[in-house]
Amino acid sequence: MVVRVLDAVLDLLVPPRCAGCGGRGALVCPRCAVELSAPPRRHAPEAPPEGLPECWAAAGYDGVARRVLIAYKERGRTALGTALGSCLAGAMAHLEADGPLVLVPVPSTRRSRRAKGHDPVRRIAEVAARRLRAGGAQVTVAPVLRPARKVADQSGLTSAQRAVNLAGAFTSKAVPRGRVVLVDDVVTTGATLAEAARALRAAGAETAYAVTVAATRKRVPVMRHARRSQNR
Ligand SMILES: [Zn+2]
Repeated sequence: MVVRVLDAVLDLLVPPRCAGCGGRGALVCPRCAVELSAPPRRHAPEAPPEGLPECWAAAGYDGVARRVLIAYKERGRTALGTALGSCLAGAMAHLEADGPLVLVPVPSTRRSRRAKGHDPVRRIAEVAARRLRAGGAQVTVAPVLRPARKVADQSGLTSAQRAVNLAGAFTSKAVPRGRVVLVDDVVTTGATLAEAARALRAAGAETAYAVTVAATRKRVPVMRHARRSQNR
């Protein structure tokens, strides 16, 4: 905690180090900013969970995007939310919307939100919404999802295990009218986004898209029976 506060204070007092490459002079240097503003890519997991919305990611979860996200989420460098929110806005610019976009941030299912004292995904969703509104789009942020219970850490689980681990993990309040876009920091198997979409559906809203800052490229193990059922 003390280290995180010190990091945040140092960001204000001394020329910052780039969270992407460590160079002095900016929170995110121009070269790393270019990597965060590449054209978004469609993320299609090998065995997409049922109900996964069309999913777009601004960057791969490696290199610059990974380092910036970790500094932002784990090291308390909340000022990076501005760069990450812009990155997210860039990944949303191409989404089709004939009315307002409603950004729904995916809440943390672990204790991390309380422990870190901020809601990292909601913060970047709000930055993205401001950016898109400045460009003339109608965009609101609707933090309607709530964790319904604690879930185990997802890392190391297969797609099928993740789906079981996350079943019923979220509940949703009523969702404002508009095209719903789920927002998260990282997508891997899509299990979290599919569960979030399920909770929104239970509250009467269909999710049009999911957009994340980063998508993992590493292969997540797929259980054989999951792959077979996918083929049916
Ligand atoms: Zn850099």
